[in-house]
Amino acid sequence: MQTNAIQNYRANEIIRKCVHCGFCLATCPTYQLLGDELDSPRGRIYLIKSALEGKSFSAQSIQHLDRCLTCSSCETTCPSGVEYTKLVDIGREFVEVRRSFWQKTYRYWVRKFLTTPLLFNLIAPVFRHSKAQKNHIQTNQKNPKILLLGGCVQPALAPNINHSIKNILTKLGFTAIETSQKQCCGAIDQHLGANKAALVKIKANIDAWLAFDCKTIISSASGCGAMMKDYGSLFDKNDKYYQKAQEVSKKTKDIAEFLADKDLSVLKTINDKIAYHSPCTMQHGQKLGGLVESILTQLGYTLTPIQDSHLCCGSAGTYSIFQPKLAKQLKINKLKNLQEKHPQLIVTANIGCLMHLQKGSKIPVKHWIELLS
Ligand code: SF4
Ligand code: SF4
Repeated sequence: MQTNAIQNYRANEIIRKCVHCGFCLATCPTYQLLGDELDSPRGRIYLIKSALEGKSFSAQSIQHLDRCLTCSSCETTCPSGVEYTKLVDIGREFVEVRRSFWQKTYRYWVRKFLTTPLLFNLIAPVFRHSKAQKNHIQTNQKNPKILLLGGCVQPALAPNINHSIKNILTKLGFTAIETSQKQCCGAIDQHLGANKAALVKIKANIDAWLAFDCKTIISSASGCGAMMKDYGSLFDKNDKYYQKAQEVSKKTKDIAEFLADKDLSVLKTINDKIAYHSPCTMQHGQKLGGLVESILTQLGYTLTPIQDSHLCCGSAGTYSIFQPKLAKQLKINKLKNLQEKHPQLIVTANIGCLMHLQKGSKIPVKHWIELLS
């Protein structure tokens, strides 16, 4: 795509890679639902290009950008390697200052509410998904080699997820220390166009996590994991956080990645029939599609085939709050496909998907790691 006078070097580079082929349209959930080119990756690239070139950009254009789930499905499909999600982050920062006062205020408070544990914990018990099991886990505090990410909303909504991980790692002979710091990884701010606020949190996280001097940082929420693996690309080479951010990104592993090469024969195995929903941040963001499926299959679980497994469930961070109609339709479609072969349970790898799907599901939805504890 040709560009004219775009000051942002990174945006320019990304837009120029797009060859207009339109392959990405077929795998874009919003284009599938709405059938409008402007609700497709290619259409949104045009909108961002036009905005950055100082051409027309209306309230309607903002709506088309807001409808994007940031699911990265288009990146997986694109044959030219267009880094769409990096471009949309630039586009959103540009758009944010052009919103109406009421939109800005609403978005600000949703962002604050979700990323401030003191506020979020006030209402979290109403939505709590699971309690931590009571079994006691003995950890060797003298040898903290693995840092387990606490996260912002997960400890309050589903504490059993990290409890299960600690239990499993102890059985496998590892020591996991959960971060006491319950701060957002920065994804919520960044996806809402508050890139500066995201960087403040990211820097604080980097300092806190590297102080642990651990070899591995484990994330059990694929949304956070995808963001942390991206830390390295958020700083300029001259920035003093550049090296440190690279280090955090290299150390970060999803729990599935960590377990993939371990001997799991000591863990619980059951012959249940389950449906696995692969979060977008797992399959498109971290490119770890198929990993959880292979671990569960090796442990004896029967996984049902899922139609359109590459499509988003509609959770997508704060998407279900700001785009409830589209999020609901995507959830209905996803649950229909997940329940088609009558599984006993649905499992997933991200707290956002888990909470979103459970609201509409007749059968229980869990984090897959809870099955093994
Ligand atoms: S990130 Fe997802 S919703 Fe957004 S344009 Fe790409 S495929 Fe469509
Ligand atoms: S698939 Fe890639 S190159 Fe083709 S239109 Fe979409 S973003 Fe552009």
